[in-house]
Amino acid sequence: MNLEKSAAAFAKAKKFMPGGVNSPVRSFSSVDCSPPFIARAKGSRIFDIDGNEYVDYVGSWGPMILGHAHEKVISALQKAVERGTSYGAPTELETQLAELVQKFYPSIEVLRMVNSGTEATMSAIRVARGFTRRDKIVKFIGCYHGHSDSLLVNAGSGAATFGEPSSPGVTKNIARDTIAIPYNDSATVEKVFAECGGQIACVIVEPIAGNMGLVLPKNNFLQTLRAVTEKFGALLIFDEVMCGFRNDVQKDFQIQPDLTCLGKIIGGGLPCAAYGGRENIMRNVSPDGKIYQAGTLSGNPLAMTAGIATLKILSATPNFTENLTAKTSKLVGGLKKILGAEVQIPQAGSMFSIFFSAKPVENFADAAAADQNKFKRWFKNMLERGIYLAPSQFETLFVSAAHSDEDISKTLAAAERSWLNA
Ligand SMILES: *Cc1c(COP(=O)(O)O)cnc(C)c1O
Repeated sequence: MNLEKSAAAFAKAKKFMPGGVNSPVRSFSSVDCSPPFIARAKGSRIFDIDGNEYVDYVGSWGPMILGHAHEKVISALQKAVERGTSYGAPTELETQLAELVQKFYPSIEVLRMVNSGTEATMSAIRVARGFTRRDKIVKFIGCYHGHSDSLLVNAGSGAATFGEPSSPGVTKNIARDTIAIPYNDSATVEKVFAECGGQIACVIVEPIAGNMGLVLPKNNFLQTLRAVTEKFGALLIFDEVMCGFRNDVQKDFQIQPDLTCLGKIIGGGLPCAAYGGRENIMRNVSPDGKIYQAGTLSGNPLAMTAGIATLKILSATPNFTENLTAKTSKLVGGLKKILGAEVQIPQAGSMFSIFFSAKPVENFADAAAADQNKFKRWFKNMLERGIYLAPSQFETLFVSAAHSDEDISKTLAAAERSWLNA
């Protein structure tokens, strides 16, 4: 595979941007190779500037559930762009998207559109703090909620009650208000609430965790979070920026969080996210209430248009989720047969991931113990064979409605050969 033009483009990009990229994982630094620079994408395929074609399982890190450049989304956008790209004034599109979102998420009575998942979680936490008038928050190690200061925090050593900054630039004082606990560890959650439950504003969790690879909730973990937050008057925030619209966690687990964060799919490939939930909480957001949050481009007409077109197709296509899940199961089943018992391939709907680990992965420590070198070799072999995977075991892979049986066969054939060489 020739990546000459991409390598040159990468060298030039590095002069202007940290790591040559605008989001770190794109630099492929964890797999020691330079990233293909993308020229275009259509359906399940992406094409780089050297003319290579790949079956894409990254899907822009989740949003492209319909596949790339879906006809209906593109034609809606083409019409919308003619009407202007931003007004900074109300449009009917915003209400249309909000109404669609509510059909998927009945627990979201009132919502606010923002531009990224980071903004959604950051704002939801401000609302939780403003509403409860408490400072501390609980998050789980390995869950990613965007890059706002309160959330770039690791567990401190020793006491479970003091977090430490996971990035330079996050102050110790901010980190101290974040309590980080291992995922799926209900006992520690209960212990922390018993110790300082009255100071905790909220628990934020990915109900299906996708940012340490895919890790599913187990042993009534989510039920425990709901029960303990209710008992102590803290809010429960489900960060469904990644798993939302691919899984119906709130229905499947019969849990209503107080607030939900959405992103990725909600914008149909354009920058859009949202946070919302119970009306009596959300009415505290400005201008109805005093909790401030705003955005020049929030509710942008192009983003609304792409989101509406995408969600309309999801809701109007019979058995959309079931069919996509079945397709993903077929792929995952094939991969399991090829890779064998030394490899874990968890799946949730159209999300899956691959851990080179003989033992099931239930939290970040398990994910971190998976064999990184094996993954690196496997990743490069797959890329060589035209299969575009996320360049890290700590990422989730996505199947789109555009992936065909032929794509799956091609992927499994590549996996068979890649595995022999890995
Ligand atoms: C991607 C992601 C975010 C951050 O969204 P951005 O749009 O990248 O800011 C937050 N939470 C989860 C669960 C995510 O997967």
